Amino acid sequence: MTDNPYISVIIPVYNEEDNITELYGQLSSVLYSLNQPFEVLFIDDGSRDNTYNKLKEIKDDNVRIIRFQRNFGKAAALSCGFKYARSNIVITMDGDLQDDPKEIAKFLEGLKEFDMVSGWKYRRKDPFTKTIPSKIFNILTRVLTNVNIHDFNCGFKAYRGYVVKDIKLYGELHRYIPAIAQWKGYTVGEIKVEHHPRVHGKSKYGANRLLKGFLDLITVKFLITYIQRPLHLFGSIGVLLSGSGFLVGCYLIYLWFNEVKIGDRPLLNLSVLLIITGIQLIAMGLIGELFVNSKDNNNWIIKKE
Ligand code: UDP
Ligand code: MG
Repeated sequence: MTDNPYISVIIPVYNEEDNITELYGQLSSVLYSLNQPFEVLFIDDGSRDNTYNKLKEIKDDNVRIIRFQRNFGKAAALSCGFKYARSNIVITMDGDLQDDPKEIAKFLEGLKEFDMVSGWKYRRKDPFTKTIPSKIFNILTRVLTNVNIHDFNCGFKAYRGYVVKDIKLYGELHRYIPAIAQWKGYTVGEIKVEHHPRVHGKSKYGANRLLKGFLDLITVKFLITYIQRPLHLFGSIGVLLSGSGFLVGCYLIYLWFNEVKIGDRPLLNLSVLLIITGIQLIAMGLIGELFVNSKDNNNWIIKKE
């Protein structure tokens, strides 16, 4: 195995038995033509078909196979690849032959300018039941995260090695890598890539994964905006609630001074409820703040050359 690979290609695969051999063929011809040491990391994400055996058939010392105990999802597979990749340039691609290895040269070019480069499947070859939700998803993510690219979820991406060591992925967070990278201060570029229709096997992403993906957008937005200052989120809602409870209370006191009986009024309950809920939220924010500040990790990252 090469000691210092120039480039690591990470490919998460889940039930892709009919794609492996052809994919390796296409990929290796591109990688060997670069004349640089490389490694390919296949992460078998708990496949139940013959994927693992197909991977074992590849006779190439530059290929490493990591096999998960069960299906943990694409984010976990990528995250594992990020951990074990050993080179200064990391490329991720899907293992279903929809991404074309010939595009790798363009990614390498893009990395001269940016810390990470995301692929844009500008002529996406998937059914419209996937492309339409994906368009909505991309617009929403662009607006909420301020990252100016068209295609967040494209599996074909390239990174300078240090970027992937700084990115933690879980759930469906792989859809938001450009947003997480930009938030950490890395520059993000985008290049157009060719996309092929899926010939063998089935897509693993249907409506249920989409919903999870949308929920994770809330996580990402929260991370980007509030991770250092939880009090700013919970505290402002708390102040708003307590404040309105206080105003309702003032109104009741005013009535009381005017000798109107206020004993059984629903407004009294509302006022007390608002004040207490508000105080609880402020307390939650403060506890969050203590937690964030008691952790020993830096909230800055020194720029790498
Ligand atoms: N994948 C994976 N784990 C999963 C689901 C998918 O490793 O739980 C892999 C899959 O084998 C493929 C890539 O992630 O290499 C993209 O998946 P898919 O083609 O199903 O997604 P789509 O292109 O339809 O969005
Ligand atoms: Mg696919």
